[in-house]
Amino acid sequence: MKSFDVIIIGAGPAGLQCAKILAGSQKSVLLIEKNKIIGPKVCAGGLTRKCFNYLQLPDYLVERTYQKIIFQTPFNKTILRFGENFLYTVDRKKLGQWQLEKLRSAENIEIKNGSAVTEFKKNYIIVNGSEKIGYKYLVGADGSNSAVRRFLGVKTKLTGIAFQYIVPGRKFKDIQIFLNSRLFGAWYAWIFPYKNSASIGYGCFPMVISPKKAKENFLKWAKSQKIDLSQGEYQAAAINCDYRGHKFGNVFLVGDAAGLVSGLTGEGIYQALISGEEIAKLILNSSYKCEEIKKARAEIRIHKILLVTIYIFGPLRWMLYEIVVLAVKNKFLARILLRVLT
Ligand SMILES: Cc1cc2nc3c(=O)[nH]c(=O)nc-3n(C[C@H](O)[C@H](O)[C@H](O)COP(=O)(O)OP(=O)(O)OC[C@H]3O[C@@H](n4cnc5c(N)ncnc54)[C@H](O)[C@@H]3O)c2cc1C
Repeated sequence: MKSFDVIIIGAGPAGLQCAKILAGSQKSVLLIEKNKIIGPKVCAGGLTRKCFNYLQLPDYLVERTYQKIIFQTPFNKTILRFGENFLYTVDRKKLGQWQLEKLRSAENIEIKNGSAVTEFKKNYIIVNGSEKIGYKYLVGADGSNSAVRRFLGVKTKLTGIAFQYIVPGRKFKDIQIFLNSRLFGAWYAWIFPYKNSASIGYGCFPMVISPKKAKENFLKWAKSQKIDLSQGEYQAAAINCDYRGHKFGNVFLVGDAAGLVSGLTGEGIYQALISGEEIAKLILNSSYKCEEIKKARAEIRIHKILLVTIYIFGPLRWMLYEIVVLAVKNKFLARILLRVLT
């Protein structure tokens, strides 16, 4: 049986970043991705400034850069200006391909795409139903519907669903967030423009609102905004917000597989990158302290508290939204809100 020191399952931002840190080390690494093409993923591709700085993305990879964000409620609209670049959109395929490019010269990394891991055993995996490959360390970077997480028996209760239409055209210029308690409950609808298209979407927690009802409400909202979705490509995927640990003996979970998505904002790319990096460092040095994962978890916890607070406002939630959107017209309060959200 072929064997590697480290097997990473999934070549999303988390798996690719984990491989990048292990590149050039003494460890033999296998990165397995079920899709033939590395990169594409149902995602709005929004990056916060901390994520952009972390990645050190070249300009050509940025679809759009934003110095402002528009918050809208049924009665109010506030434009938050940052005075500097603060939010970015990227194409996930290009981001994945750029991350992959960085691994090309690493002799200790083997990449197996178009290969799904179908079974997990204590010291080996089975690929495409037949090929056995051994490991010392296994990294589950296989996203929100993680098979590695299921293999570990880690429960997942707090899972959201986010869906979007990728609408062609250059009609939309700004990042916009729509808070409408009656239609979206404690979540929001978004418009994230790219160069030649835009992601227009919404997320929900099925334990609060059924995905069917959520989509109905979203379509109602789009109609009220005179947004034509008829040419848009519909996409949907789960987001796992249920963190229950990242180290399980010689098996690790990173990114969405670890449940590191913010339940409030839906941001997950940054957490995927930093957790991928920290787990690689932990594999290289068993006494490494994963401080960045700790920090990300602390932020996610704050987001969770805010989300629950918004939720328990129930029928008065609309009033909370109106107050917040009016309050952030004040620059100081706006900065605090941005700090908390991003
Ligand atoms: C609609 C939507 C919009 C979003 N918008 C944003 C946003 O604007 N900004 C943001 O920061 N986050 C956003 N997110 C969240 C973001 O997409 C994720 O947090 C991020 O992709 C997590 O990266 P990851 O590497 O952990 O997992 P993924 O990107 O999901 O990568 C997992 C990889 O594992 C592979 N895989 C799965 N199972 C197997 C298997 N058995 N064998 C081999 N390979 C396997 C998959 O094919 C995939 O390539 C959004 C999510 C959704 C659903």
